[in-house]
Amino acid sequence: MLSSARTAHHADVVVVGASLAGLSAAQHLISSGVTVTVLESGPRPGGRMTTDAVDGFLLDRTGQLLNTSFPELIRTPGLEALKLRPFSPGVLVHTDGRNHRTGELRGAKRAFTTARAFAAARASRSAGLDQARLGAALARLAALPIDRMLARPDRPTSTTLATRGLPARTVEGFLRPLLASLLSDPDLTTSSRCADLVLRGYARGRLCLPAGGAGIIPDLLAAQLPPETVRTGVHAKAVGTTAVDTAEHGEITCRSVVVATGARSAAELIPGLRLPGFHPVTVLHHAADEPPLRDASLILTGTRRGPVAHTTVASEVDPDRAPAGEALITSTVLGAAAGLPTAELDRAARAQLARVYGTSASRWRLLAAHHDPDAVPAMPAPHDVRRPVRLLSGLYVCGDHRDTSTVQGALFSGRRAAQAVLRDLGVRPGQGQALRAA
Ligand SMILES: Cc1cc2nc3c(=O)[nH]c(=O)nc-3n(C[C@H](O)[C@H](O)[C@H](O)COP(=O)(O)OP(=O)(O)OC[C@H]3O[C@@H](n4cnc5c(N)ncnc54)[C@H](O)[C@@H]3O)c2cc1C
Repeated sequence: MLSSARTAHHADVVVVGASLAGLSAAQHLISSGVTVTVLESGPRPGGRMTTDAVDGFLLDRTGQLLNTSFPELIRTPGLEALKLRPFSPGVLVHTDGRNHRTGELRGAKRAFTTARAFAAARASRSAGLDQARLGAALARLAALPIDRMLARPDRPTSTTLATRGLPARTVEGFLRPLLASLLSDPDLTTSSRCADLVLRGYARGRLCLPAGGAGIIPDLLAAQLPPETVRTGVHAKAVGTTAVDTAEHGEITCRSVVVATGARSAAELIPGLRLPGFHPVTVLHHAADEPPLRDASLILTGTRRGPVAHTTVASEVDPDRAPAGEALITSTVLGAAAGLPTAELDRAARAQLARVYGTSASRWRLLAAHHDPDAVPAMPAPHDVRRPVRLLSGLYVCGDHRDTSTVQGALFSGRRAAQAVLRDLGVRPGQGQALRAA
C-alpha cells in the first residue's frame, strides 16, 4: 500500500487531516507526551469548519448551529478561550405569514414577538397548553440519563415523531423543522437515537454561534500545538500502521497513524472502510444596509414555501461577523434544493426571505453561496454513535462519521482515537512523559 520513497520525517504519531477530529486527537496525544505531526492537504487547518473573510464580513462555509451543552466544547484542551454567542431563547417558526416564538425551556411560559401574536395565542385556548406540554417534554428529555436514551429502539426519526406524546401541531410546527435543521436532514431519515441526542442537547443548553466564525475552533486548537506540528499543503496518498505516503514529501514514518480526513477521503485511504451517504447543504450569505430584524433569533421555515430551512441575522447574534453599519443574513438550504444552480437558488431564497423578514430582499448583496454535497454524513437507523476508531494496532480513524455528524461528534471521536493510540502505545493519558522512555 505504501510507496518505497525516502523517509522525510518521523513522529510518534502522524495524524492525517487538520480539522476538529484531527486537532482534537493531536491535543490529547501531545498532552500525554507523544510527538505528533498533523498533515493537512488544504492551505490552512479547518476543513468543513472554515471561515472566509470577505469585504469585512466573516462567512462560515457551514451553517453552524452549535449548542452550549456540547461537552467537548468545554472539555477539549485549547478551547478555553472559545466564546459562544447564544441565539435568543427558543426559536422563531415562520408559519401562516408570521413568526412565532416556541421551544423555550420555561415550562408553560412563552414569549411573544408581537402583540398580534399574543392576541392570536389568547384566542386559541390550546396554544398555551401545547407550549406547556412541549416545555414538560423537553424538561423530561433534558433529565433523561444518556444510557437510557441510547437503549431506546432505534428507528427513522420521521416514524417516531408521532409517538412522543405531543400534539400534531407541535410536531409539525416545531419538532419537525427544528430536527430537520439540527440534523441537516429535511426528510428525517436519521436514526431516532441521534435525533433524541440532539434534542436532549437542545433541551439542556442554548443554540449558539462561535464568536468570530466557525473557523475559530480549529484555529484555537491549532494555535495550542507546538510550532510546526501542523504541516499544510501535504496530501496523504496512502497510509499504513507505521508510515504515511505523501504526494509532496514522500514517506513519513511513525509508530501509529490516525486518519482524520472526513468520511470520503478516509474510505479512499483505508480500503474496506464503510462510506456513508451524505446530506448536501448550501449556505447563503447576504449583506444588507441594516438588519431586517433586530433580534438574535434562529428562524425555522420548515422549507414550506421556499428552499431555506433556517435563517438568522448572523450579525445580531455575533456582531463580529459584519462591518459596522452593515448586517449579515445567513441562510441554510437542505436536501435537493441545495443542489440548485446558485442564481436560481438565490432568486428563490430572496423571495422566501422577504416574506420571513417582512421586508424586500432585492437590494441585498449575495456575498457567498457555499455548496457542499458531502456536508453531513447521514446517520440512518440503526446508527452506532460510537463506531470503532481502532482498526489495527497502529491504525486509527476518527471524524464525525465515527460518532454523530456534529462538531461534538468530531471532537469526541478525536478524543477516543487518541485514547486508543495511547492504550496501544502503553502511555497513560495526560501523563506527559516522553514516549521514548516507554
Ligand atoms: C454546510 C455544513 C453545515 C453543517 N452544520 C452543522 C451544524 O449546524 N452543527 C454541527 O454540529 N455540525 C455541522 N456540520 C458538520 C461539522 O462541520 C462537521 O461535523 C465537522 O466539521 C467535522 O470535522 P472533521 O474533523 O470530522 O472533518 P473535516 O472538517 O472534514 O476535516 C477533515 C480534514 O482532512 C483534510 N484531508 C482530507 N483528505 C486529506 C488527505 N488525503 N491528506 C491530508 N489531509 C486531508 C481536509 O482538508 C480537512 O481539513 C456542518 C457541516 C457543513 C459542511
